[in-house]
Amino acid sequence: MAEQKAPGFETRAIHAGAAPDPTTGARVTPIYQTTSYVFDDVDHAASLFNLQTYGYIYSRLTNPTVSVLEERVANLEGGRGAVACASGHAAQMLAFFAFMEPGDEFLASTKLYGGSITQFGRSFKKFGWNVIFVDPDDPQNFKRALTPKCKAIFVESLANPGGVVTDLEAIAAIAKEAGIPLIVDNTMASPYLCRPIEWGATLVIHSTTKFLSGHGNSMGGIVVDSGKFDWSSSPKFRGLTDPEPAYHGLKFHETFGDLAFTVAGHALGLRDLGAAMAPLNAFLTITGIETLPLRMERHVANSEKVARFLEQHPAVGWVSYAGLESSPYRKLAKKYLPKGAGSVFTFGLKGGYEAGVKLVENVEIFSHLANIGDTRSLIIHPASTTHRQLSDEQKLAAGAGPDVVRVSIGLETADDLIADLDQALKKAA
Ligand SMILES: *Cc1c(COP(=O)(O)O)cnc(C)c1O
Repeated sequence: MAEQKAPGFETRAIHAGAAPDPTTGARVTPIYQTTSYVFDDVDHAASLFNLQTYGYIYSRLTNPTVSVLEERVANLEGGRGAVACASGHAAQMLAFFAFMEPGDEFLASTKLYGGSITQFGRSFKKFGWNVIFVDPDDPQNFKRALTPKCKAIFVESLANPGGVVTDLEAIAAIAKEAGIPLIVDNTMASPYLCRPIEWGATLVIHSTTKFLSGHGNSMGGIVVDSGKFDWSSSPKFRGLTDPEPAYHGLKFHETFGDLAFTVAGHALGLRDLGAAMAPLNAFLTITGIETLPLRMERHVANSEKVARFLEQHPAVGWVSYAGLESSPYRKLAKKYLPKGAGSVFTFGLKGGYEAGVKLVENVEIFSHLANIGDTRSLIIHPASTTHRQLSDEQKLAAGAGPDVVRVSIGLETADDLIADLDQALKKAA
């Protein structure tokens, strides 16, 4: 027999994790709209509760529709397993919850989604989890900022909103030397454009709300575990190595090996944080992923056209898109994002804050809203919206100064998008 070639990304985007429904033959994964699952008998129930057998108890922990999504995204990212959550922020919370204790620290890039800066800097403080923000443009900054209490490094592969590409391989080497996991938010790239585990990431996070669901119709998040981190390598990761009293002293890493994070993410993280993904949202996200490769190709092609148009427009001071030859991140983009630098980028208006406000108020095809990764083209002025809670200094550090406009280029006809921006730029001038 001829040697079986591993299926390609497009094939896996449609088939990974799914099979026809065993009872009905339904070809599409059904929405298992149920809270709970009948036990065969008392022994079966006991083995489920003891984590000795695989199966379903209650949809806060696991649900068959959500499980298909988890397997599919884990497969596309090259991970061992995944935990789906109610939102991207819930996924971030769950990732850190696995090993952080009060008084612990972690390093995070300054170039992050505005909501993540707020979540890490303010709400995480209430748990005693302290973030140290680091400029990612020089990877050595992470090495310099490390402290003995640091338990992780968190970056975005392609940063929201500035068109910043992170040097994943260099930062992964620093995390590895320090014996701590590298967590990469891969929301803006999607696994079609970038696969952080191949560069050394331990955990990969997505807000599935964005490109994975892809149609602006369902909230969700996911943590993919590479399965490659040795949680027992130091006493730092007690949540995964110490006996767990709620499961008769079971030790997750010792018992489940490279599935330790995935099992604990459900059995402890979802059980106690409660931020489970709804089965309907999992269904919509599975459906979205089936066209992810096609959509990302068009997102990238449209973005390159729009970015080149903006770059030569007299009202525009600069365009920060890693897909342009002029970008300082061009070299990193070629390495980490060989199929394109995504479809979210920023540009600066010579008319500053006032021009930004007028532009978003005058577009017709673009929608003025706070999301990215939709089929529709979206526009926002971060300084007056998503990043308004940050200090002026944090705004600049996050690439969200007063003149900055962020677009998420959709799948419409590129010429229509260019014409729409052109007429709105005239009104904003
Ligand atoms: C939207 C977003 C998040 C947060 O995800 P939600 O689904 O809105 O909770 C995190 N990181 C990035 C890069 C995002 O774009």
